[in-house]
Amino acid sequence: MESDARFNILKNFFGYTTFRPGQEAVIDAVLAGRDTLAVMPTGAGKSLCYQIPALLLPGMTVVISPLISLMKDQVQALREAGCQAAFLNSSLSAAEYGGTMERIFRGEVKLLYIAPERLQKTDVSFFADGGTVPLVVIDEAHCVSQWGHDFRPGYLQIADFIRGIKPRPVAAAFTATATLEVREDIERLLKLKEPFSITTGFDRPNLYFEVQKPRNRKQALLECLEKRKDSSGIVYCATRKAVEEVHELLVREGFSAVRYHAGLDDAERRANQDDFIYDRKTVMVATNAFGMGIDKSSVGFVIHYNMPKNIESYYQEAGRAGRDGAPADCILLYHGQDVQINKYLITHSEEGETANPALQAHNLELLRQMTFYATVNGCLRQRLLSYFGEQAPVYCGHCSNCLTAFREVDITLEARKIISCVYRLRQRGRSFGKTMIIDILRGSKNEKIRRFGLVNLSTWGIMAETSSQRIRTILDFLIEEGCLIQEGDEYPVVGVGRAEDVLREERRLMMKLPEERKESKPADLNAGARVTQAAFGLASFDNALFAKLRELRKELAEKEGVPAYIVFSDASLRDICRKKPVSLTRFAAVHGVGSVKLEKYGEVFVDCIREHVGDER
Ligand code: ADP
Ligand code: ZN
Repeated sequence: MESDARFNILKNFFGYTTFRPGQEAVIDAVLAGRDTLAVMPTGAGKSLCYQIPALLLPGMTVVISPLISLMKDQVQALREAGCQAAFLNSSLSAAEYGGTMERIFRGEVKLLYIAPERLQKTDVSFFADGGTVPLVVIDEAHCVSQWGHDFRPGYLQIADFIRGIKPRPVAAAFTATATLEVREDIERLLKLKEPFSITTGFDRPNLYFEVQKPRNRKQALLECLEKRKDSSGIVYCATRKAVEEVHELLVREGFSAVRYHAGLDDAERRANQDDFIYDRKTVMVATNAFGMGIDKSSVGFVIHYNMPKNIESYYQEAGRAGRDGAPADCILLYHGQDVQINKYLITHSEEGETANPALQAHNLELLRQMTFYATVNGCLRQRLLSYFGEQAPVYCGHCSNCLTAFREVDITLEARKIISCVYRLRQRGRSFGKTMIIDILRGSKNEKIRRFGLVNLSTWGIMAETSSQRIRTILDFLIEEGCLIQEGDEYPVVGVGRAEDVLREERRLMMKLPEERKESKPADLNAGARVTQAAFGLASFDNALFAKLRELRKELAEKEGVPAYIVFSDASLRDICRKKPVSLTRFAAVHGVGSVKLEKYGEVFVDCIREHVGDER
């Protein structure tokens, strides 16, 4: 009986046809009156796990969340779907606050979102007397732990808050990241009673992963964006300065871009964030300050202009793409410089003298893992998942490495040329970084080379026919193998390592190298998206209709003063493009269409589709 009820809500309220992994188990546990601790990655669909019980249980469910912007968002989305939701946090005026309290008193609120700091300020006895709170949800539950990365003192009040409510409600805690220590903290500090614990997998099958090692990052970025002009996404940069530069470049090149970093004043940050969320601007260029608490579900791509310092940060940031389940792309533009900069930041951290060597070593190891991801030849998805301790197949078919042909090639001769060059330079008492060595090998006559008289070096120009990209790849490989070494933190130079056997031709070196890709024509650039679409059966996707639907969605959203994705997610629009429903009954079967949305938007959308189909004939 109960399972039918939750399924009905899934279908009729949210408009979805199947549960995602873990959702049913959590809902069942909560409905059975059991405390719960769920660790689910971003985009897994945690909200639904407590929203469905909240809709089924009598009384008002209280959701404690640290993210004020997200609260407003969730409440808007729930109201849009026809649920009585409200929030209490510091962004409300006194009058609004009073109004919400009145609605609560009148029993008109089904789901109440509240900031942890408000728990003390709100009269707990009021909750206690009513006897109408069946469930308390703790979102971002890792905030209770000092071990977590965003500790919130307000979270320490939660256990008391729950205890103050009679009868004691069920407590359900959710988080996307929790190590064992943090999980234990959550259980202990929130005083969960023998909780049902669940951790769902980290894989996000709709995400396509790609690493590029471009010579010219700006050019590569422009190409990436050009291919994705009809979707919206985030470009993450390592520094404020990079954000400024990239933002300026994009605006100059005619992209609809905004910027976000901690150096901008509050007003501009908020305005830019809203422009992005409300789809008035399509590209957000930001530092990692952007994203926490941003719930825009229709992000079609996340491009990292710089490599982050560890895989956790990378996966969290990249994971902001495709939260609605629609295909989305996560692209890292890697450059060796990123490693040096990150190393420098780790070893010159602000703590200065108090720097903890163990922590530094730990962070350097995390950086090494990240670098390994950026340079590995095997499946990228497998790398990510195995970092999080999950087994995954060696081939996912949906990342740039799985889609690139690698050939095992003998690089002994090229290796000897490169090593000899470094060796000769050392004989002359000179040491240089990678770029200079590549320039010498390729026979450049740049100013520095002439000044040092390197044109008459016997290894000058001996690899003139080889691309600098390929030389760099082999050079990196030789460093990894220990044949060459890299010394110095700030301005690393290359030296000779254990290379005698290679130089004496006693050892052959084999290496997996990508087949040189043919330069693709502009119309045929998007290998990634093409495969994405093929993988999701969207080969003959109706782009024209999609554009019309987006426009319609934008109009409706503007009229209601909500972000576009709250009207319908990209995943819903894609489903409409596939199904082309020309009647309300058929429209009801679209992903994300519940009864309220059907009534509210069904007709306009069906009209739009009819018109489009008519035009096609
Ligand atoms: P999380 O909080 O875990 O990051 P959300 O709860 O915000 O994720 O859900 C991410 C997106 O997935 C939302 O757009 C949500 O509506 C959608 N979603 C959740 N559950 C399902 C489901 N069973 N089927 C389809 N879409 C779902
Ligand atoms: Zn793969």
